Amino acid sequence: MTISFLRLCFFISLLSLLATCARHSLTETPPPSTAAIPPSTIEAQPVSGMVDSKRLIQANDEPGNWMSHGRTYSEERFSPLSQINEGNVAKLGLAWYYDLKTERGVEATSLVVDGVMYTTSAWSIVHAIDARSGKRLWTFDPKVAGEKAKHACCDVVNRGLAAWGNQMFFGALDGRLFALDAATGKVNWEVATFDPALPYTITGAPRIVKGKVMIGNGGAEFGVRGYISAYNVDDGSLVWRFYTVPGDPDLGFENDAMKMAAPTWKGQWWKLGGGGGTVWDSMAYDPELDLLYFGVGNGTPWNQEIRSPGGGDNLFLSSIVAVRPDTGEYVWHYQTTPGETWDYTAAQHIILAELKLDGVERKVLMQAPKNGFFYVLDRETGQLLSAENYIDITWATHVDMKTGRPVEVPEARYKDAPFLVYPSYLGGHNWHPMSFNPKTGLVYIPVLDFPAMYGQPEEFIYNPGVGNVGTDGIVGGLPDDQAERDAIGALIKGRLLAWDPVKQQEAWRVEHSGSWNGGTLTTAGNLVFQGTADGKLVAYRADNGEQLWDFATQTGVVAPPVSYEIDGEQYVSVNVGWGGAFALVFGEFVQAESLPNISRVLTFKIEGKIKLPEVAWRPTVVFNPPELLADKPTLKMGLASYQDVCMGCHGLNAVSGLLIPDLRGSAYLWNEQDWNDVVLGGKLKDKGMASFAGHVSEQQSLAIRSYIIQQAQRGLALQEAAATASEVAP
Ligand code: CA
Repeated sequence: MTISFLRLCFFISLLSLLATCARHSLTETPPPSTAAIPPSTIEAQPVSGMVDSKRLIQANDEPGNWMSHGRTYSEERFSPLSQINEGNVAKLGLAWYYDLKTERGVEATSLVVDGVMYTTSAWSIVHAIDARSGKRLWTFDPKVAGEKAKHACCDVVNRGLAAWGNQMFFGALDGRLFALDAATGKVNWEVATFDPALPYTITGAPRIVKGKVMIGNGGAEFGVRGYISAYNVDDGSLVWRFYTVPGDPDLGFENDAMKMAAPTWKGQWWKLGGGGGTVWDSMAYDPELDLLYFGVGNGTPWNQEIRSPGGGDNLFLSSIVAVRPDTGEYVWHYQTTPGETWDYTAAQHIILAELKLDGVERKVLMQAPKNGFFYVLDRETGQLLSAENYIDITWATHVDMKTGRPVEVPEARYKDAPFLVYPSYLGGHNWHPMSFNPKTGLVYIPVLDFPAMYGQPEEFIYNPGVGNVGTDGIVGGLPDDQAERDAIGALIKGRLLAWDPVKQQEAWRVEHSGSWNGGTLTTAGNLVFQGTADGKLVAYRADNGEQLWDFATQTGVVAPPVSYEIDGEQYVSVNVGWGGAFALVFGEFVQAESLPNISRVLTFKIEGKIKLPEVAWRPTVVFNPPELLADKPTLKMGLASYQDVCMGCHGLNAVSGLLIPDLRGSAYLWNEQDWNDVVLGGKLKDKGMASFAGHVSEQQSLAIRSYIIQQAQRGLALQEAAATASEVAP
């Protein structure tokens, strides 16, 4: 199979456009709030112990609990439990399952505190569950407005909660930080962490250090100024806020760190959405050094030529930053990708560990950010100790240990010509947590492996509130020829990679059938657990990668498993339910086994005997398009506008990942007025399809409709051809 390079360029540059359509389709969808879930039942609950500093710092003394996002402040995601181990994991079976009753991506790490599981589902809905039986204790739905989905680059997901005292804390998609009574789910306080009209979102889990809830936000694809905030656990009052990028220098600086950062920027970045640099996921804490670490995301726009013309490092984009948790005072930073221009966030999982390097025991911080390098830093000073690429990359050759900076391939900055960059804007590793097993000394990384083409756009106009990535999508999209499309799909890979952080080299790997597989858990039972995009939870031997057990989850898994123990019995639990950025955009390449989205908590124990109900259906597209009447210029405009504002949710070439119904099957295609009522009039805003009036003109709206009719005609023709072929097949 040969794919013309140009076509590959077109395809991959199209991939590099994140867009901003709302997350529900124009056709029938369930409402975002889960009407099916009854309101909280307030009954006597098992009294759980108070989570405090001491318990969190000494979390390894309580291997049966999973009290914070990464289990410990070091975020290793290592369970010291070993009742389930390499010798008996083959007998693992389902102990219980719990329906989350949403139909979008499930990315949460469940917490387990003294017998109660606390977890979140899509649309920031919280569930408290009896961790032994799977019985619901209470639910809390913050009722996020459906149209807020417009500002979520990567699905309406939530990655979980934090526990402190007798309260549970989480951030909702619309920016409200909640403190709930842990026993009842009643709201103790809530506070807006940003203006919900701005294109910020919260998808990450809070962390709590010394009575302060730390929470960041997302939105750098759209145009925001990133920051992390600390709130008092008792009343939600703001204690401190640390901006990650400077604002307009004429207005002064919030602190010395911003003063230091400002000269690394050029132009007028604050007028293009605020510079980006969102703190959307990772944090870790070292109580001995009293340092809070967090990872900072990409710039707005991605393209540095537009964001900061003439260059500069653009601090603190793509950096790991250490601050004092009491004050937010800057201590050190390490920038992984100076002057980032590829959406190379350093918001990926941070793990703290003790490693013996050159015979010396070191307190290190480890990260495998999007850019493809695995970093080991001295976490006291931020000094780079080592960095090697954990996947094949094309944007840089290596990291110079003298300067601590990557040595770039100059053409990769795509100033003069488009450039095929490995890894893509989704990174070599995204939000899916990795894990570190101190017994094997290995880090288990859920790796993504595929490229993206980047190019200069013909023009860039900042469009507030929608995608502003500033890289060229060119025209064309996927090739029409299906065999060529399939060949492109074969480039999209994913694997479980066991990495030795001391030797900075691969220990073993397991190649998966596709990309966007789940986060990992490793245990003292010499095990690694990972869910996969093709609908399995798998256990591997931690030391050599041998597969020991798997279970059909009926839906793609992206969330990381956890393990806990009650009354001497060990459990492994994982949230399942396909979704996230890849699931929405890469509809053409979503594996059939990922679907449908069945959002559940699945919990296993040795000799568990529960069976999941059969799934008798798969989502499909019924093509019934009207006649295509548009001329070529209209179709060209429709494609361009579709790429700009629709593709991020409705999928590449209008092929949906089927988490939301496919536009090519929409009945709204039949009438121009009906179409505009949705796209411009916001008729389906409560279902997640906000109005795009002000972002696209009426002419563009109708051109998008024509483009989708064209793609529906193509889909129909392919379907009919396939039916004919199967009839004549012997
Ligand atoms: Ca990003």
